[in-house]
Amino acid sequence: MRIYADLHLHSRYAFNTSPALTVAALAAAAARVGLGLIGSGDALHPAWRAELRRDLEPAGEGVYRLAGGAGPLVAATVELSTVYRRDGRVRRVHHLVHLPGLEAADTLAAALERHANLAGDGRPIFKLDSRELFARVLDAVPEAFLVPAHVWTPWYGVLGANSGFETLEDCYGDLAAEIFAVETGLSADAAMMRRVSSLDRCRLLSGSDAHGLATLGREATVFDLPEPGFAALRRALATGQGYLGTVESFPEHGKYHWDGHRACGVRVDPEREPEAPCPVCGRPLTVGVARRVAALADRSAAEGAARVGHEARHVLPLAELLADLGHKGAGIARARAAALDALGPELPLLLDRPLDAIAAHDPGLAAAVERMRGGRVTAEPGYDGVVGRVSAG
Ligand SMILES: [Zn+2]
Ligand SMILES: [Zn+2]
Repeated sequence: MRIYADLHLHSRYAFNTSPALTVAALAAAAARVGLGLIGSGDALHPAWRAELRRDLEPAGEGVYRLAGGAGPLVAATVELSTVYRRDGRVRRVHHLVHLPGLEAADTLAAALERHANLAGDGRPIFKLDSRELFARVLDAVPEAFLVPAHVWTPWYGVLGANSGFETLEDCYGDLAAEIFAVETGLSADAAMMRRVSSLDRCRLLSGSDAHGLATLGREATVFDLPEPGFAALRRALATGQGYLGTVESFPEHGKYHWDGHRACGVRVDPEREPEAPCPVCGRPLTVGVARRVAALADRSAAEGAARVGHEARHVLPLAELLADLGHKGAGIARARAAALDALGPELPLLLDRPLDAIAAHDPGLAAAVERMRGGRVTAEPGYDGVVGRVSAG
């Protein structure tokens, strides 16, 4: 069974997230997007865990479904943040942890609660070395696995410009051997990841990092799992058996693709300009994902693209395609709902639906989807926290 999965998202208990993020609302939004599997997000937060237990029922090995309903499978996931000093520099790293069920989430919460305020933020912050935290996770829940999150982002990615780590081994030491997947993040894609040979042994995970319902499924991982469950998911990411690839946003769309300074309005193309201080304020620019990948790459962009070896398709949100076609304000949501009602869920529509079927509903949309699928888009890359603009209009 072919499944689009979004395994990186948050609940309304994480910092700076939408109050609309309830279990039922996430399940409903995921069904509209065409996601067959989502992460619970925030699985260590006590109030969110209570809601997950109340609203979900078991639906397979280590996975759940909204009680009494259809909708996507839900797996227990949480993003953990570590902030610590090593070798005289502050390190901030985000890690996605996948758990074999909600009991395991209880077990892990009990093991970690004295190291972080689990009730304070759905993405709890640990003043622990990343290797130390990973060791405690494995001690408490040996089947758990850890996927370094949005690995290239400058502030919180393990390989980002400000982490100071150049390999997974630099950060996780001997426990790097336990890591078999890394998250691409919104500002990078599969081809960029494959420019770095030290990551060749890792499968690629793509997730939305949604902080609200509207961004759910803007990136996804594609699986073919006969019996979806925690063990099958783990096996797919660890061995490639049942793993089909990723759905990626265009990397220019991400908030950290180019270098820049948001406050100074400075945006720098790393392929044209050398790394340099900000021409306005004189301080170092926030180094984007494109420059950081190039710095650690031992392959060209073309060689990286040639080595992907699985599905790695780029997608723009349907709402953005419709905005580019002239829909405005509440009209965008109405046009989106009409398209989904007529053509089915968003990701299969954008990626798989025959163009003539889309054209029968909306010829302009079909033309935009065709341009998107062919990569014929224009981009104003994001930088220093400013979301990029990518248009197929
Ligand atoms: Zn994160
Ligand atoms: Zn500046």
